[in-house]
Amino acid sequence: MAAMSRREALKLFGLGSIGAVVGRGALAAAEEGPATKPASAVTSADGAAPVPYKLPDLPYSADALEPAISRDILSVHHDKHHAGYVRGLNKTLGGLEKARAEKDFSRIKSLSRALAFHGSGHVLHSLYWNSMKPGPSTKPQGKLSRMIERDFGSLDALEAQFARATTKVEASGWGVLAFEPLGRRLLVLQAERHQDLTIWGATPLLVCDVWEHAYYLQYKNRRADYVQEFMKIIHWSFAEKRLEGCL
Ligand code: MN
Repeated sequence: MAAMSRREALKLFGLGSIGAVVGRGALAAAEEGPATKPASAVTSADGAAPVPYKLPDLPYSADALEPAISRDILSVHHDKHHAGYVRGLNKTLGGLEKARAEKDFSRIKSLSRALAFHGSGHVLHSLYWNSMKPGPSTKPQGKLSRMIERDFGSLDALEAQFARATTKVEASGWGVLAFEPLGRRLLVLQAERHQDLTIWGATPLLVCDVWEHAYYLQYKNRRADYVQEFMKIIHWSFAEKRLEGCL
């Protein structure tokens, strides 16, 4: 991510269109083959139909990482597994569009789970291909190098923590080096499975706390009533400012 601007990242992962409607025409185009136009934040912000997510090409040939990662495993991983997440993500967005049109949210839990599962799969695999390069690894430079020194003490210490944390992820998942914007620091995180109902890299614009401490004393078990009241007092211009910061 370090060498990639926010705009480039949005473009690469098609994150600009997350949460927005995918038109039926656009979906059909995605089934037929890769979209000719890259997804962009501007498209959806302008109110036009967002471009469906598309499978990015590998940034190198399938055998470029040998012997560390064989051609076979890399091509199946990219062409089958990653492609499946992209297909699932576009299909889920179609399902959500249908639910909104029919005002039938009876499948909202499974659709939201599928959105996070396929969306995180797409984002993390897109990052994974770019997290590796053929030939010898280079050392971190500039700001990244200074932040590693500050937040971990040294590159060796970060690498030791990252390798250990990644090895010890329970069952399936990912090791993640992340920038946490509130504290403006680098953190090593473990992601179990990969979704946990969010999509990595998505920026929250608006949140509603439904932990019991947020409403129980006043609303008891009536969470729906609390959410209805929350909906009446939303600060939309805050969300608008957050969105401006992303585009
Ligand atoms: Mn994978």
